[in-house]
Amino acid sequence: MTASRVLVLNSGSSSLKYQLLDMSRPSPATTLNGAATPHGDDSGSRLASGIVERIGEEGSVADHSEALGVVSKELRARGLGLDSPELAAVGHRVVHGGSRFTEPTLITDEVVAEIEKLVPLAPLHNPANVTGIKVARELRPDLPQVAVFDTAFHATMPEAAARYAIDRATADRYGVRRYGFHGTSHAYVSRATAKLLGKEPSEVNVVVLHLGNGASASAVRGGVCVDTSMGLTPLEGLVMGTRSGDIDPAVIFHLSRVGAMDVDEIDDLLNKRSGLVGLCGDNDMREIGRRMAERDASAQLAFDIYVHRLRKYVGAYSAVLGRVDAIAFTAGVGENSAAVREAALRGLEPLGIEIDAVRNAVRGTVARVVSTETSRVAVAVVPTDEELEIAQQAYSLVRP
Ligand code: ADP
Repeated sequence: MTASRVLVLNSGSSSLKYQLLDMSRPSPATTLNGAATPHGDDSGSRLASGIVERIGEEGSVADHSEALGVVSKELRARGLGLDSPELAAVGHRVVHGGSRFTEPTLITDEVVAEIEKLVPLAPLHNPANVTGIKVARELRPDLPQVAVFDTAFHATMPEAAARYAIDRATADRYGVRRYGFHGTSHAYVSRATAKLLGKEPSEVNVVVLHLGNGASASAVRGGVCVDTSMGLTPLEGLVMGTRSGDIDPAVIFHLSRVGAMDVDEIDDLLNKRSGLVGLCGDNDMREIGRRMAERDASAQLAFDIYVHRLRKYVGAYSAVLGRVDAIAFTAGVGENSAAVREAALRGLEPLGIEIDAVRNAVRGTVARVVSTETSRVAVAVVPTDEELEIAQQAYSLVRP
């Protein structure tokens, strides 16, 4: 028997999400609609998934070590224990790989130390990711563990896209450059889009719009990322649920000098109290839709600002790519909000983009084309699957 299961762990500061996949079986996406296969691999059938929440809160699990114990118990109860010889690897989502990690990486003590060094670049995420890695290594020290980085897919960005136009010595000294995030999703969705169109990833140029609570756009040329909207941190780019996205950096100086706000307050303002929630009090696009139907002016304005920014990135990335074969919408908002998709692409026929109102309005859970037959650019809705991508990348390193 060959070990063919991969446990995917996504450790947040107070939560632990897991999925167990069997890589010897085809992925449901493949059997349903022939969706993407990184590394030419169609495998990955979900055996179990779940989440342990409120880690560290009173009356709940004390820490990540205990949380992994809960996961282990849940899996054992289903005959899928972590001590099983069928487990081939653990795949860990790690948010920031800096300049060092541009590929899925087999975890060693040295790799853990390097990920810890990147904490200043991702103070909210990397510490939790490291904790998840440490407890999983303690539980199964014999098992290969693989880190898959959110930044990795964007490492191919040319310098012209990755560098900020600031003093080079200062930028290099402090690692200030554009890294990009959601890379696992952008990689998966760009490939899935090629497959949906019956093409190889190398044959198509795709603009991927990952619109979840966090949101980012990417320009992918022939399977290679050439630009993305998030930067040094996930704050740059699109309007998000609670983040501002692009602003004039001088807003920060102004708030500091005139508003007497300190750095932590401004950080909190731009990351947690801005975006949709800052504009209208709600960060859920469903609620904003309901309020718009009742002619709520601030919900409408929040929607309009969100869509305006999205259109700017569609235009920018069309110019970056020159020829666009597809625009792919993914994640919570992208997969579910026909209104956002329609408003983002309305009136772009001169760019060869013709969304089909009827196709766009149909709800679905599989990858699908929502543009007209005559549209030069295919518009697609492509459900993302970051866990499957992580499992496939991890398995590709350890498979016999
Ligand atoms: P995360 O970034 O937390 O992984 P998701 O990709 O799950 O987020 O997206 C979450 C967001 O998706 C919610 O905040 C909500 O705005 C949006 N969403 C989910 N379902 C719908 C829907 N049916 N219509 C519009 N928006 C939706």
